[in-house]
Amino acid sequence: MNIKEFKGVYVFVEQREGEIQRVSLELIGKGRELADKIGESVTAIILGYNIKDKADTLIHYGADEVIYIDDKILEVYMTEPYAKALTEVIESRKPEIFLIGATAIGRDLAPRVSARIHTGLTADCTSLDIEEGTGNLLMTRPAFGGNLMATIVCPDHRPQMSTVRPGVMPLFEKDESRVGKVEEFKINFSKEDVNVEILEIVKEKKQKIKIEEANVLVAGGRGIGNPEKFELLKKLADELGGLVAASRAVVDAGWIDREHQVGQTGKTVRPDLYIACGISGAIQHLAGMEESDFIIAINKDPEAPIFEVADIGIVGDINKVIPALIEEIEAVKK
Ligand code: FAD
Repeated sequence: MNIKEFKGVYVFVEQREGEIQRVSLELIGKGRELADKIGESVTAIILGYNIKDKADTLIHYGADEVIYIDDKILEVYMTEPYAKALTEVIESRKPEIFLIGATAIGRDLAPRVSARIHTGLTADCTSLDIEEGTGNLLMTRPAFGGNLMATIVCPDHRPQMSTVRPGVMPLFEKDESRVGKVEEFKINFSKEDVNVEILEIVKEKKQKIKIEEANVLVAGGRGIGNPEKFELLKKLADELGGLVAASRAVVDAGWIDREHQVGQTGKTVRPDLYIACGISGAIQHLAGMEESDFIIAINKDPEAPIFEVADIGIVGDINKVIPALIEEIEAVKK
């Protein structure tokens, strides 16, 4: 492999029902920064059906060029046709860097493509940069359960591929005066490329939780002990007209949905009142909530760092403190 033949930063743009996913725009912005460092261009690749009109938006968010592949087969995501299409684009265009959002779709697609083109893939990155001197992509991701950060390079193969977590990279400031090249890429799909038949798409029915708009948040961390304890936190939140939020530890453990997560890789919140229950106060959590107007922290460890940002600290077991708080609030209301 002559790696010098590979040029440019490419971003896979994920659309669902024609709606561009925000992480793809974040990656175009990051791609722009990386491309500027190595003096190359940013190409956005969008796959779907009747999607040509999305190209302008991608250019406004930082792409120099858009490649679109328009085919009825690509209307709804299916692994095989998408993997085939991206593989053909990569083989023909030879990108130096290829970025994909670490969504459910991106996590399915990226490893298949990287295996087909015999390159490495760093999954779930939280930071990307260019190494001075070599120009290699530095792909950083949490390792060993988030206890240390590992920076990975792919010096001998191209493209350098990475999936990136949604919500980590800032958006490029939208500029509607930007113009760029738009090009169609044709793929000859055959029947064998469609090895799955989609009979029905059933969407999970869930209410959109907007913790960033709540005045009161009752947030739970690993210290609450088990997922059922969120019911207790919800009771307190209901009493105060607020919502339940969470640390990443409990989101990663599957105790609560990601849309409740506060912090560096979650949401940034600024409620009037933030009650942190069984949350240690890691720097990545504080980054998302320390601007709250009033913070109450409940933690059984008097040394927990959360107390450093708290206006009121309660050293105690949430199993005792929260029911007592609910009781007091109910008594006041009567
Ligand atoms: P722990 O750190 O395990 O803390 C549990 C706390 O509960 C302890 O302080 C303990 O004393 C207390 N406790 C235990 N039992 C009780 C009880 N019965 N009553 C009262 N207190 C009790 N974290 C986030 O939250 N948001 C992010 O967006 C985020 N992004 C990250 C991004 C990166 C790149 C990395 C590396 C990490 C990120 N993290 C994030 C993870 C972060 O570093 C911490 O691991 C995480 O916040 C810890 O969650 P926790 O406080 O719930 O759990």
